[in-house]
Amino acid sequence: MLTLIKKIFTALIILLSLTTISSAQNIFIIVIDGSRYTETFGAEDKYMPKFWYNLREEGTIFTNFWNEGYTSTIPGHSSIVSGVWEYPPNNGSEPPENPTIFECYRKQKNIPEEKVWVVAGADKLESIAYSSDEEYGEDYCASVETNNYTGDLDTYENLIEIIEDEKPSLVLVNLRQTDIAGHSGVWDDYVSAIRQADSLIFDLWNVVNSDSSYSDNTTFFVTNDHGRHDDEHGGFRHHGDDCVGCAHLMLFAAGPDFVKGAVSNSKTSQLNIAPTIAEILKFNMPHADSTSLIGK
Ligand SMILES: [Zn+2]
Ligand SMILES: [Zn+2]
Repeated sequence: MLTLIKKIFTALIILLSLTTISSAQNIFIIVIDGSRYTETFGAEDKYMPKFWYNLREEGTIFTNFWNEGYTSTIPGHSSIVSGVWEYPPNNGSEPPENPTIFECYRKQKNIPEEKVWVVAGADKLESIAYSSDEEYGEDYCASVETNNYTGDLDTYENLIEIIEDEKPSLVLVNLRQTDIAGHSGVWDDYVSAIRQADSLIFDLWNVVNSDSSYSDNTTFFVTNDHGRHDDEHGGFRHHGDDCVGCAHLMLFAAGPDFVKGAVSNSKTSQLNIAPTIAEILKFNMPHADSTSLIGK
C-alpha cells in the first residue's frame, strides 16, 4: 500500500513539473528600430561590443534575415507580430489586418492582458497591439506602455517596471532611438544609439537571467523593423525602399530551443518570427505565411 501511495505521489510530482515546464515559457522580442546590418552583426564588435562578446555565444545568429515587405516602422513591426506582410499606414492610424501573436496567445491560451505587452518609444506603435480581424481584435490586445520619442533610457525604465510588477510572458520592446538619431543625419548620434541599445539589451539579459521566474524558460529575439538606405541608395539618413541597406536585418535568437553559439545562413524573414513564438508558447497563428525558425 505504501509503495502504491509512493508511486502515485511520484507520478503526481512528475505531472506537476511537466505542467510547470510547458506553461512557463516567456518571450522577449527586442526591436532596435532602424539599424542597418552593416552597423550590427556586419560590424562585429564595433557598435555592439556587449552583444559580440557576451551574448552571441548564448544563442543563434541568423545572417540571412530580411524585411521583404515595406521597410518602415509600422509595417515592419506589424509583419513581425502577425507573420504576414502587412502594409498599414506608417502613422499608426490603422491596425494590422491579420491577428497578432498577442491576440492569438491571449485568446487561445486564456492569458490575461497584464501578461502581454508592447513597450515602445513612439505612441504610434500602440497600433500593433491588436488587429482588425473580427475573430480577434481589441478584446485580446496587448497592454501598451509608450513614451513619445524621449529615448531608449525611458523605454528601458518602463520595461523594467513592467517586468517587476507584472512578470509578463510575451513582450515586444521597441528601442526607437536609433531610428530617430539616423533621421537626424548625424552619424555619431546614430552609432551611439546603437551602442546604447547594445548596453540596454545586455542589461535586460542580466535582469531576466537573474530572475527565477525567467531564467531557463525565456526566449530572446533581437531584431529590427527595417534598416536604412545603403550608400548606393542615399545613405543612412532615411529608409523605406527595398535596397539591401533597408531590407537586410539582424536576428539573434536565444533560449531553450536555439543552439548556442550557432550561425544560420538559411534565408529567413520577419515572417518566421510569429510562427516561432507560436510554437514555443504552444498556440496557432491561423493566417501566418511562414514557418518556425526552430531547426533552421
Ligand atoms: Zn522604424
Ligand atoms: Zn533603402
